Amino acid sequence: MAKQDYYELLGVAKGASADEIKKAYRKMAMQYHPDRNQGDKEAEHKFKEISEAYEVLKDEQKRAAYDRFGHGAFEGGRGGPGGFGGGGAGGGFGGFDFGGGGFADIFDEMFGEFMGGRRGGGGAASGRGQDLRYNMEIGLEEAFKGTQANVRVPTSVQCDGCNGSGAAAGTQPITCPTCQGHGKIRAQQGFFTIERTCPGCHGQGRVIKDACKTCGGAGRLRKEKTLQVNIPAGVEDGTRIRLAGEGEAGLRGAPPGDLYIFLAIAPHPIFQRDGANIHCRVPIPMTTAALGGTVEVPTIEGSRTKVTVPPGTQSGHQFRIKGKGMSVLRSQQRGDMYIQAVVETPVNLTKKQQELLREFDKAGKEGSHPQSEGFFAKVKELWEDLKD
Ligand SMILES: [Zn+2]
Ligand SMILES: [Zn+2]
Repeated sequence: MAKQDYYELLGVAKGASADEIKKAYRKMAMQYHPDRNQGDKEAEHKFKEISEAYEVLKDEQKRAAYDRFGHGAFEGGRGGPGGFGGGGAGGGFGGFDFGGGGFADIFDEMFGEFMGGRRGGGGAASGRGQDLRYNMEIGLEEAFKGTQANVRVPTSVQCDGCNGSGAAAGTQPITCPTCQGHGKIRAQQGFFTIERTCPGCHGQGRVIKDACKTCGGAGRLRKEKTLQVNIPAGVEDGTRIRLAGEGEAGLRGAPPGDLYIFLAIAPHPIFQRDGANIHCRVPIPMTTAALGGTVEVPTIEGSRTKVTVPPGTQSGHQFRIKGKGMSVLRSQQRGDMYIQAVVETPVNLTKKQQELLREFDKAGKEGSHPQSEGFFAKVKELWEDLKD
């Protein structure tokens, strides 16, 4: 079967800029990434194809050779150390190894950029472990106090059998005979001299003769590990906590990835958080609102506080309680708590209560319901106007 044109594969024009190619590749790589298409052979194949196309088109020299000679540019030396074709243990073009480092690195590269591009260096063959994301939900009380959480993450850990080297007990990885330990080889291809990652060792400079029996030479094992994470007081919903080096172990002693904890704060049944402040709607009996009194309200630290309700308190009135809000991250300060009064109309009245209220009404004098009186005065005016 004829190979598809690399430009067509990525859906870009022949004259596309490096940036356009990168964007197109990234979009497709996200779509066909094996992590998102578990067990889908077609997606895996497509992912390999677009990765191969990108490997060539992102490199100015390789792209020039491809533009000139097409796929033929990369066919002659397949399998040999001088060719373009890879042929190393990982197979595939440019050393993509789906069980190992190359694959994780693509993901890392993207993930790293989502994280604000914090990662510098680290070539495609470094074998650095994958970054991991862990979603955690905590309660508002925990966010207030700060907490310690145990996190169980399925990950890769360094193999104890070989201390991560991948070499069988009593042996050491040896200098790669293909590249003499440089990790890169120079190849003459037509008119070009091209330096590329050594296919013999995937750029690591060393290879393993006797693989460790425990990990099969990878230097790491899949395992679940438990980590204790400190959640500081005052954290916000959506906070990201980075635990450097707690991601997946690297391949054969390469540095591990990082673990990111993404925090979400569960909605609280009573309190609403607004930054450092806390809002709380408190029902107040009609009689208390009219006569004045006190109500007890809960606080985020688990105690109670008394609020004085002055006579004639209206529904919607806000009381501010200074210093009873949320804790502020890395500070001794606290926000305030705002209590919103919701005056409750009594229901299921007894005969006696009804009588008393009727009597209360009859005994009324003008001026005790200024809002209603003002409102109905306006309505009356409106009706008078309509008569004219
Ligand atoms: Zn090598
Ligand atoms: Zn091992």
